[in-house]
Amino acid sequence: MIIGLTGGIGSGKSAATAIFERLGIGCVDADHVAREVVEPGEPALASIVEHFGPDLLMADGTLNRGRLRERIFTNEPERLWLEALLHPLIRKRMTQQLAAQTSPYAILVAPLLFENDLDKGCEASILIDVPEEIQVSRVMARDNSDEAQARSIIKRQMSRADKRLRASYVIDNSGTLADLENALVALHQEIMAKLPTPSSETGKRHDD
Ligand code: ADP
Repeated sequence: MIIGLTGGIGSGKSAATAIFERLGIGCVDADHVAREVVEPGEPALASIVEHFGPDLLMADGTLNRGRLRERIFTNEPERLWLEALLHPLIRKRMTQQLAAQTSPYAILVAPLLFENDLDKGCEASILIDVPEEIQVSRVMARDNSDEAQARSIIKRQMSRADKRLRASYVIDNSGTLADLENALVALHQEIMAKLPTPSSETGKRHDD
């Protein structure tokens, strides 16, 4: 069983992931996978260099992400080309990594879980949710960014209201980290209670 985990920037996805990992739940991060598929030696990196030119590489052979972003920022066809290349590779690798997890259920962490319809491949989804003021102050403290920067990133993301409507579980993270941990331990127990037990699986097979 796969459970999606999402939330806006600074909502506490990384904090929540660390808590699930402490509970022994395997977590796959979509952003990490997106970086892995363009590492040196990966076919996608070769395709990008062939398409955009060798100046897309840094001196050490890694992808120059800033330059790639510039090239696709105002160029819709190029952006679509890149997405058509990367999205299937990212999905495939995410699926493989999720299938390799041995915990009772696995978590797919994705900032764009809903925007990219990744929740469609999940049994349920968890939204880590905080009011925008808290989001802004936590992002500013974490990233050393200014308020305008933080607000402009938040504005470009799907609204909190839309995410709340779409999520199976909404976890409020406006309290302390200990509060978040308590809420997630309770949710973990709820999810575990819903998992089919080995005996009920056997029973189901008998019924079939
Ligand atoms: P995300 O991964 O969603 O961008 P993070 O988990 O990195 O968000 O959280 C943003 C920042 O806020 C981090 O510095 C994190 O340590 C801090 N943080 C997260 N949850 C809490 C909390 N409940 N109380 C205080 N700080 C928190």
